[in-house]
Amino acid sequence: MSDSNQSLPPYSENSAMVEEMVRSFAAKHIRPHVMEWDEAQFFPVELFKQMGELGLMGVLVPAAYGGSGFGYQEYVSVIVEVARVCGSIGLSLAAHNSLCTGHILTFGNEEQKSRWLPKLASAEWIGAWGLTEANTGSDALGMSTTAFLDGDDYVINGTKNWITHGKSGDIVVVMVRTGEKGRSDGITALVVEKGTPGFTHGKKENKLGMRASETTELIFDNCRVPRKNILGMEGEGFKQAMKVLDGGRISIAALALGIAKGAFDAAVAYSKERHQFGKPIASYQGISFKLADMATDIEAAELMIRKAADLKNQGRPVTKNSSMAKYFASEVAVRCATEAVQIFGGYGYTKEFPVEKFYRDAKLCTIGEGTSEIQKLVIAREILK
Ligand SMILES: Cc1cc2nc3c(=O)[nH]c(=O)nc-3n(C[C@H](O)[C@H](O)[C@H](O)COP(=O)(O)OP(=O)(O)OC[C@H]3O[C@@H](n4cnc5c(N)ncnc54)[C@H](O)[C@@H]3O)c2cc1C
Repeated sequence: MSDSNQSLPPYSENSAMVEEMVRSFAAKHIRPHVMEWDEAQFFPVELFKQMGELGLMGVLVPAAYGGSGFGYQEYVSVIVEVARVCGSIGLSLAAHNSLCTGHILTFGNEEQKSRWLPKLASAEWIGAWGLTEANTGSDALGMSTTAFLDGDDYVINGTKNWITHGKSGDIVVVMVRTGEKGRSDGITALVVEKGTPGFTHGKKENKLGMRASETTELIFDNCRVPRKNILGMEGEGFKQAMKVLDGGRISIAALALGIAKGAFDAAVAYSKERHQFGKPIASYQGISFKLADMATDIEAAELMIRKAADLKNQGRPVTKNSSMAKYFASEVAVRCATEAVQIFGGYGYTKEFPVEKFYRDAKLCTIGEGTSEIQKLVIAREILK
């Protein structure tokens, strides 16, 4: 069995149907533009509107708020099928669904959910989520962006870095310091809508991979947002962010799995077609053993991701399993993409074939939403507590 589609059974009643729908959408609307968007660093807003019509921008949002009302298994299938065609679009979908939308869905009150979720689920609005700053990535608690209450408004000052959809996003959930620096109860989550005075975006990053996923700075200069835009209570923002990342890491693991599958499928096909010394290169053990390792890695990553998705669906503790899935799958993506380039030889080093892009995109998975080192820290902490 050479096709990574067929390795495992469907994980929910709907996941096979969702996979099929997303696969055909991606083949028609994403695949033809992948390299053009990558080279131009073009973030295709219109594509996200189309994905909104299909329900892909509110996968986990209940139907009552205009979403698809699916669980994590279907969500994993969506991200995998998009990422096996284009990692950038997979990353942006994951950031929109898990981070911005996921934060409001999990911690918003009824009025906030009714106000924002239908817009996010339909893709009328694209969502962003701001935790990271220039000097505080892994160590997010040290953030410098502050907010203080002035009458009925919070006044925000500071800069967030590396924010997916920082420019094209219509709404951002931003973590700000409202208390003592370094204390987990000193962080608060606020919602800021585009067009709010004092809120702008800064420079756009010129990236190695994931180039069609927009990444920019967010700048807050005496930006006033109404007090009612707070998610939960003052001081709860850090704990909320860590919970949001528990779900987000499952989506980054799925993103990595999609990239690994895309690279694997390309490598299998090429190794059967490419002849050297009078035989297909797949007939040499040096190549076929690479494929065997890739297939084994992919199967193991998928099992870990599906287990984490299952725990998340059941509302059981998932911190350790989502970190394990994210850590393992992202390293698998890097290994599979590296081997795929090797199997393509010189052609793999060109932009004529898709594997060089998988190779560049895969690396992000070991960095975004917590690096591999930070995942090990989380896993160790969970084991030893
Ligand atoms: C394309 C892209 C999109 C992103 N999108 C978003 C977004 O939408 N919103 C958002 O808030 N952030 C976003 N990020 C930020 C991302 O989450 C951070 O880059 C990531 O958390 C790492 O932080 P850092 O880059 O500051 O690295 P650093 O924290 O400076 O880490 C540098 C190195 O030191 C290691 N390290 C740090 N601390 C330890 C430790 N205690 N033990 C061992 N090793 C350690 C790290 O593993 C890494 O190898 C994005 C990043 C990228 C590249």
